[in-house]
Amino acid sequence: MEMERMEFCLSCGMPLNMPDAKGMSESHCKHCTLDDGTVKSREEIQKGIAQWFMQWQHVDEETAMKRAEHYMKSMPEWADK
Ligand SMILES: [Zn+2]
Repeated sequence: MEMERMEFCLSCGMPLNMPDAKGMSESHCKHCTLDDGTVKSREEIQKGIAQWFMQWQHVDEETAMKRAEHYMKSMPEWADK
């Protein structure tokens, strides 16, 4: 039997098998893509991830943006950019 493959969004790392994660793209979650499956700009993604840090870690926006930038360096989509 084949193991179920875990797939993660290349941009933010969200597991794509989570409810509501899947959009039009096969490799990115719907939070990181537009309605047609195009990946959003780096700035938009960073702001989105920063919002997530602010909610979960209760940090201010500046700290959250820095953490988001650092976090994105580990993502395949943004590692070299
Ligand atoms: Zn994503």
